[in-house]
Amino acid sequence: MSSVAERLERVRERVRRAAETAGRDPASVRLIAVSKMHDAALVRAAYEAGQREFGENYAQELGDKAEALAGLGELRWHMIGHLQKNKARHVVRHAECVHTLDSGELAAELGKRWRALPGFDPARRLDCLIEVNIAAEAQKSGVQSADVDGVARGVEAVAELRLIGLMCIPPFAADAEASRPHFQALARLRTELGGPARLPELSMGMSGDYEVAIAAGATLVRVGSAIFGERRAAKSAPA
Ligand SMILES: *Cc1c(COP(=O)(O)O)cnc(C)c1O
Repeated sequence: MSSVAERLERVRERVRRAAETAGRDPASVRLIAVSKMHDAALVRAAYEAGQREFGENYAQELGDKAEALAGLGELRWHMIGHLQKNKARHVVRHAECVHTLDSGELAAELGKRWRALPGFDPARRLDCLIEVNIAAEAQKSGVQSADVDGVARGVEAVAELRLIGLMCIPPFAADAEASRPHFQALARLRTELGGPARLPELSMGMSGDYEVAIAAGATLVRVGSAIFGERRAAKSAPA
C-alpha cells in the first residue's frame, strides 16, 4: 500500500490538472484532507507532507484529534459534519471553519460560543458555509435551496461569523458524473444569491467526484479515503 504522502501527492496532482482542464487557477482550489475515523498519526504524516487543512465530522473526534495534534502550529480544522447546537461550544474551540450551518439558531449559538472563547479577538471571525440539501433528499441534512437566502441573512447578522460560501453533498452515486448536475446547481444557486462577492467559496467534491466538482467551480474539495485509505467501520453514534 502506498503511503499517505504518496496518495496526497497524487490527489494534489489530480486537483491541479482538473483545475487547469477547467481553465482555472489551481491555487483557487484548496484541498481539505478529511481524517474522520483515521488515527492522529495519519494526520501527522499528511501534515509532514505539507497538508495544512483537515476536516472532521464529529465534534468529539475533532476535539480529541485537535488536542493530540496541538503542537502542529499551522494545522487548520474544518468541521464538515452535521452539527447540533449543543456541540457548538466544543467545535469553536478547535475549528476555524464550519461547513454545515443549517439555521440561524445554529449561527447565533456559534457566534455566542466563539465570542466566549478565552482570548476572543473581535477582528477574527469564524468562517462558515451553509450546507445546502441540493437534491432535496428526504433524509439529508442541509437547507433547501429556496431557504438558503434567509439562512444566509441570519448568518450575516451574527457579528462573530463570516459567511464565506455554500457546501453540498450530492446523493450517493458510484459514478462521479451523477454528481455533476448537483454541483452545477450549487454553483447556479451561488450566482443567484450574489455570486462570489457574497459567497466566495463552494465546498463540494469528495474522493469519488472531486474532479467533477472542480470542473463545476469547487473552491474547497473534501477528500478523505483517496488520501488516508478506507475508513474503519462507521461509529454507531456520531459524537
Ligand atoms: C467523509 C466525508 C468526506 C470525505 O469522503 P471520502 O469519500 O472519503 O473522500 C467529505 N465530506 C463529508 C461531508 C464527509 O462526511
